[in-house]
Amino acid sequence: MAANQTLTIIKPHALRDNNAGAILAVLNKAGFRIAGMKMTRLTRDQTENFYNEHRGKYFYPPLVDMMSEGPIIVAILEKENAVTDLRRIVGSTDPAKADPGTIRRMFGLSMRENAIHASDGDQNALREIGFFFSETERY
Ligand code: ATP
Ligand code: MG
Repeated sequence: MAANQTLTIIKPHALRDNNAGAILAVLNKAGFRIAGMKMTRLTRDQTENFYNEHRGKYFYPPLVDMMSEGPIIVAILEKENAVTDLRRIVGSTDPAKADPGTIRRMFGLSMRENAIHASDGDQNALREIGFFFSETERY
């Protein structure tokens, strides 16, 4: 089952720009089922922990600022090959380099404000789902 689930975060700027509904519609159209979803806001501590793998990189401090600056929508997405297929529809980290039709190309503003997060592997998907959702919040 794990391989069929992944985690996405609609980043604060995308929520602020009123693009959450449009992004979720793209995901539904691509075949993803929502198996859990919530609106929440990360503290700086939580954000640092979530992006721990990037600690020490030059983009880490502004990344933490950006992800904790406002509310987010976080969702468990389910379909066959969920991790790979979500990365494909999300597109390149840099929206300017993302393929037409991808979420980052459509809704990303910059390398940092790139609209949406996607787990990058099955192990990270499991970790990230557990980070946000208790058992009773998964459907
Ligand atoms: P995500 O983990 O959010 O799905 P990603 O896997 O495409 O994105 P990572 O390398 O994991 O990219 O970087 C995590 C996030 O850090 C990026 O989504 C982006 O917001 C920010 N980031 C990464 N590289 C840069 C950079 N060179 N300049 C500014 N921000 C960056
Ligand atoms: Mg990543």
